[in-house]
Amino acid sequence: MNTVQLEDPEFAEEDLRIAVHGATQMQQRLRGDASHAELELLRFAAMRSAFYSAYFPSVSRVWTPRHLERLPLLDRSALADAEKLRASGPGMDDAWVLGIRSSSSTGRPVTVYSDLGGFYSGGYAVYDAFMELRPDIRALLAAGKTGAVFLNDRPGGAHRSYMLPGCRGSILRSIPFRHERSREQDRDVVRWMRGQKIPLLVGKPWYLMRLMAIDQTLGPLPGSYREGACRGIRPAAILCVGSELFLDYRERLEAWFRCTVTSAYMSVEGGLIAIECPEKNGFHVSPTVRAWVAPGSEAPTSQDLEEEGEGELVISNLANWAMPILRYRTGDWGEIRNIDCPCGFSGQSVVRLTGRALRYFRVGDRLVSTESLARAMRTLPLLDYQVVQYEDESFDARFVPDGPVSDGLVSGIGEQLGSVLRSQLGAARVRCIELDEIPSVAGKLRRFMSAQDPGFLKIQGF
Ligand SMILES: [Zn+2]
Repeated sequence: MNTVQLEDPEFAEEDLRIAVHGATQMQQRLRGDASHAELELLRFAAMRSAFYSAYFPSVSRVWTPRHLERLPLLDRSALADAEKLRASGPGMDDAWVLGIRSSSSTGRPVTVYSDLGGFYSGGYAVYDAFMELRPDIRALLAAGKTGAVFLNDRPGGAHRSYMLPGCRGSILRSIPFRHERSREQDRDVVRWMRGQKIPLLVGKPWYLMRLMAIDQTLGPLPGSYREGACRGIRPAAILCVGSELFLDYRERLEAWFRCTVTSAYMSVEGGLIAIECPEKNGFHVSPTVRAWVAPGSEAPTSQDLEEEGEGELVISNLANWAMPILRYRTGDWGEIRNIDCPCGFSGQSVVRLTGRALRYFRVGDRLVSTESLARAMRTLPLLDYQVVQYEDESFDARFVPDGPVSDGLVSGIGEQLGSVLRSQLGAARVRCIELDEIPSVAGKLRRFMSAQDPGFLKIQGF
């Protein structure tokens, strides 16, 4: 029996309320330009949040950008004291404030308090932004019909349906996938999806790859002899959220699902930050944030921020007032330019986004670029891989061969992999390990990791 059940009337009314009120609250906060919206948030934060009011002992009647320059740039460690940042009192309806735990890949999860406006920007705004960029997909949407299917990997996740007010009132189906679930239940998800019209399929890239693998190996639907019954899942478009989309993942997903794959840059702290342009002119910055780069310096200040250039991305989240996050260092690396794009967008675009990915391995006194390593890896018949450098400078290369292959072929691929890595990394010791799947941390996969990197994870299984 198929275990995919979608009905959940218990939550429907509450969800509708969150969606509609959240959209309204977010829009109210974005009136005027982004710099005006940021000052409005500062004015509120200075009165309602212990953290911000400490910088403004007397409340100003007129707020200017100079006030913002008094604040330190926030980083992830500042979020650890969520209660201090949290806003409360008049203007904040605590009954509608949600604590959202960020499933961090940095090993330091934090809780971000969010009100309805913030919740909308973090959960719904990405669908509105996508449909605005893709009128061809928007044309497929209809009120009360499935608009998007989201692969939900949150612990304890249940089947939920949400109305998307900004997407013609179509429905977002949130389907639990992979988390604490049996493989058979995941196969049921694939069988169910095969029978659906899905305008937009959404998930973390790692989960979309797993979905694809099941779709590829699952036979035709039982009892179905019609031609085309085994065509597999056919979404009209795919949206990747939650972590970096590798070039080879994109190519495989596009080839198998026969549709375009778009990536969105989001976080629990920032909500929707930017979404990839259909004309491939980088990621267009969302009106729900102000964005800058902090070039170079180890300890940048507010005065160092620039609206164009290359460096660490810094944002203010303009949509969430429950826990004001002003001038926050994302820890992600990128390049911002102001552009007039042929897709119709005009404004800031993150034209390059390398995120937190490790950019170099240090081997002896040499620096080896991970970008060139990734290029070399693309010549090998690999479905996935991960290269880890240890303190003694030795490397482990975990790999998943592309498709089912014999033992002999696996060891051949391992040898090829070893020789490609050794030619790039010099005399380094490299151990190749074949796996069925590269484990992710909360659905996030880092391909290159080094013990020399301060963000190095304690890796399971070693
Ligand atoms: Zn564009």
